[in-house]
Amino acid sequence: MESFKIIKEIDSLDKKNDEFNALIDRESARITKLEQMIEKRSSELKEDQTKHQESKKDLTKLENESSSIISKLELKSSQLASVFTQEQIDSLNKEIEHLTNETNELDEKVFEYMELIESLEEKINDSINFLAGSIQTKEEITQEVNEHNEQKNELIKKNNERIKSLINELPSIFREKVSSTLSKKLKGAFCATIDKDCCNWCKTTIAKVKLDEINRGDKPFSCSGCHRIILPLNAAY
Ligand SMILES: [Zn+2]
Repeated sequence: MESFKIIKEIDSLDKKNDEFNALIDRESARITKLEQMIEKRSSELKEDQTKHQESKKDLTKLENESSSIISKLELKSSQLASVFTQEQIDSLNKEIEHLTNETNELDEKVFEYMELIESLEEKINDSINFLAGSIQTKEEITQEVNEHNEQKNELIKKNNERIKSLINELPSIFREKVSSTLSKKLKGAFCATIDKDCCNWCKTTIAKVKLDEINRGDKPFSCSGCHRIILPLNAAY
């Protein structure tokens, strides 16, 4: 039964290592989450910057168009003074009316573009500030996480050394079984207990003959379902 005491100690060290690894993963996930957020915002910023450039080009085009129509309008208005027939006056007035409508439409478009550009500029500035803050936060968190993980890895290393020396204390028949079961990296624990003639982990029924052998405790036995080492009843608690 002495061997099972050692096996239980190994099991509890192995469980602790699982907990440490889970903590390491959870901490590392904080960085991943931040990185994803930064990446998303960076690509939004890029899109907005492209849109901003394009809108500015479009605005310049509209403004040029508008000023050329205004020149035409001024020309037509000045021509009004030098025509005499009603027909000529009517035709010029028609053209002036048409050009005035065009300028009004263009002005509306120019206004829309100016608003769009302004809102894009606001968004771009927000993103730049957000990213600057996030990148600094990421640096701080990365340092925090690295320190935390280094500490936990150190503890895992110590536990592994202890596990190794405990394995060496075991009789060879147990040593091999423990080593090979540990290397399977079973989730939660590498030992199981007997619960109503079944494995407490996977509920596989254990045959009566095997139960007797397990409870004698001279040899280690594995569960045929989950491959965990089954602890004899009097060593389980
Ligand atoms: Zn099992």
